[in-house]
Amino acid sequence: MFGKKTQNYKNEYLIGQIDEKMNVIGCPICSLTDKAVHDYIDALFYENVNDPVERTNFVKGHGFCPKHLKMVENHLNAHPELGILGVNILYHDLFNYIEKSLDEIGGKFGDGCELCKIEKKAEQRYLELFSEFFSFPDRREKYAQSVSMVCLRHTYMLREIKGFEFNAFLKIQKEKLARLKKDMEEFIRKSDYRFSHETLTPMEGQAWKMLSKFLE
Ligand SMILES: [Zn+2]
Ligand SMILES: [Zn+2]
Repeated sequence: MFGKKTQNYKNEYLIGQIDEKMNVIGCPICSLTDKAVHDYIDALFYENVNDPVERTNFVKGHGFCPKHLKMVENHLNAHPELGILGVNILYHDLFNYIEKSLDEIGGKFGDGCELCKIEKKAEQRYLELFSEFFSFPDRREKYAQSVSMVCLRHTYMLREIKGFEFNAFLKIQKEKLARLKKDMEEFIRKSDYRFSHETLTPMEGQAWKMLSKFLE
């Protein structure tokens, strides 16, 4: 019983993370998954880089995939306090494999990327959490009215989540898209000099960003 209660608190905390994303343009699942990977990268270079398991996984996965190499680069650029000794130690482990690949054309890199695995796990967790979030009527309504919008890729993926009320969700997604379309049309209309005295709403100015993130 105690365990169940703890579990509830934990979920409540996690669902709170989705709550916070309701004021932010973009997909809450993308954004939280992205953050989970950045947190992992942060811990890796803060203290885990000497962990033999991490280093073995890195070599076994033939390094990171191109997307995650870029993500690590961006992370280290944004966090100079982490230094670059860790990344040198980690990446240096790959030299044997790189050198061999030059002799045997067709070496695969990042095909078992550890960060892809972390990302996949986090993504699944947040898909399930969104499903739980959506089961509360007040939160569902909040989502419907918010600037937040689950992207197309995650819309498809939510269909596969057991117990998720997909049809109700799809209805909201369609309403959001219709609103977006209208906001864009209004922006275009008001850009005409004949109507330029009409003020733009904040959403009309942001519609293109919302659509871009929806398709990202
Ligand atoms: Zn997404
Ligand atoms: Zn990857």
